[in-house]
Amino acid sequence: MSTEQLLASLRQCVGQAHVMTAAADIEPYVQDWRGRYRGEVLAVVSPASTQEVSAVVRACAAAGVKVLPQGGHTGLVGGATPVNAQRAEGSAPVIVSLRRMNRVREIDTVGNTLIADAGCILENLQQVAADHGRLYGVTFGAQGSCQIGGNVSTNAGGTGVLKYGNTREQVLGLEVVLPDGRIWEGLRTLRKDNAGYALKHLFIGAEGTLGIVTGVALRLHPRPAVSAAAWLSFDSVEDALAALVALQGQAGERITAYELLNRAQLQTVVAHYDDVRIPTDPDAPYAVLLELSDTYARADLNGLLEDVLSGLAEAGRLRDAAIAANEAQRAAFWFIRHGISEANRAAGMGLSTDVAVPIKVLPAFIDKATRAVLARWPELSIILVAHMGDGNVHFIPRFSFEDWARIRHLPDIADTVRAVVHDEAVALGGTFSAEHGVGYVLKGELERLRPPLELELMRRLRQAIDPAASMNPGKLL
Ligand code: FAD
Repeated sequence: MSTEQLLASLRQCVGQAHVMTAAADIEPYVQDWRGRYRGEVLAVVSPASTQEVSAVVRACAAAGVKVLPQGGHTGLVGGATPVNAQRAEGSAPVIVSLRRMNRVREIDTVGNTLIADAGCILENLQQVAADHGRLYGVTFGAQGSCQIGGNVSTNAGGTGVLKYGNTREQVLGLEVVLPDGRIWEGLRTLRKDNAGYALKHLFIGAEGTLGIVTGVALRLHPRPAVSAAAWLSFDSVEDALAALVALQGQAGERITAYELLNRAQLQTVVAHYDDVRIPTDPDAPYAVLLELSDTYARADLNGLLEDVLSGLAEAGRLRDAAIAANEAQRAAFWFIRHGISEANRAAGMGLSTDVAVPIKVLPAFIDKATRAVLARWPELSIILVAHMGDGNVHFIPRFSFEDWARIRHLPDIADTVRAVVHDEAVALGGTFSAEHGVGYVLKGELERLRPPLELELMRRLRQAIDPAASMNPGKLL
């Protein structure tokens, strides 16, 4: 089948207007939002229903053309961006964008479940849950543009994992269009279902390599009635960890977020936004944004915070703290945290990493990785932002734009810097990819750092579900 015949067939599947090929129309789909990765595609196709996704995938399979599922295109490892056809071993793929599949299909406030199209924007889905007095537990900076299908496919984490878990913990069932176009209807909302292999888990975190997620059944939570936020500053990571342990003892599951930032990260945010003020000493080496929440409306969370924090201060483990007095202050605290990505993008060439280590060795990891990186590249700044309660650190060695211009011609320099960080994490029992996935950027690291048997099992799974290797070429494995 020629390309023209395939395009004609795709237009029949979804309508003329929803098959884009003009360079200006497809630009946002072929380059990632940071402008680091781009590749060629035959077309960008936007189906409006599961049946249309199935028809598109069948047409591509018949033409021997590969398929790249794309959600909100906010991923950080190049997973949803096409790579050069040569590197992906084949011709340019067709992007299947889920953006038109954006309906919440049903919400059940007795069973606390919600079923949505995979193209629902995370924030819209959170809002529907809130409108029904419920909470969807996954939240992070890209929620205004990422899609629930993308979250499922990357097993997204974010700032609420400590209390609610990753996306994997929210998923009750899935509907998936398989690489041959058949539809797996696994959209069950059961809390218990032990009938054989739990197939949904294969597709969660599969980064579009095993099929296209078209529908998602999710767990909801009761909506907290009260919350309290505090900005804490510390002299060391050890102190921040001691505070977390103390808080867990006294506040238990009320801890909703515990986000660590280092001084260089805070300075980057302050330099980028005119009106940002750090609530405590901006020169403290480390700061934590802490949030508690409770479904009991009369819970005295501020009182609880004051008790724990005064105990920590007396023990000499807390440098300073500010408790948000109202909703505006709470929002201002969160603005600092969520403003990080934009601020970092403008500040230099940050080689983001996404490692996780057992929580107790977090201070050791930060110390060892910092020493290892600075020993080789003393000109780097080390930016740290961590979902500390999950042991997940975005350890970001950052070159100034001038240094990067000088050094970028060196082959594999970005990979080499990241590898130094990854090695320190793995040596402490950690992983090089905690929540962003593998995509295109970390393929080599998967190969380098995971045992051969794990890689063999992954390849065999992919081969079993996608024998023609037609899904998301050049990614993950
Ligand atoms: P895309 O970027 O479009 O795709 C990601 C991968 O999933 C690709 O491999 C793609 O092929 C596949 N995919 C997408 N949709 C489907 C589908 N329907 N079926 C099958 N495969 C599909 N991530 C975190 O985990 N935690 C964070 O705290 C976090 N913070 C972020 C903050 C900012 C400012 C930004 C820009 C990103 C952040 N991310 C974070 C990364 C990113 O937002 C998440 O990975 C998100 O889950 C990706 O969703 P998406 O819809 O944009 O997916």
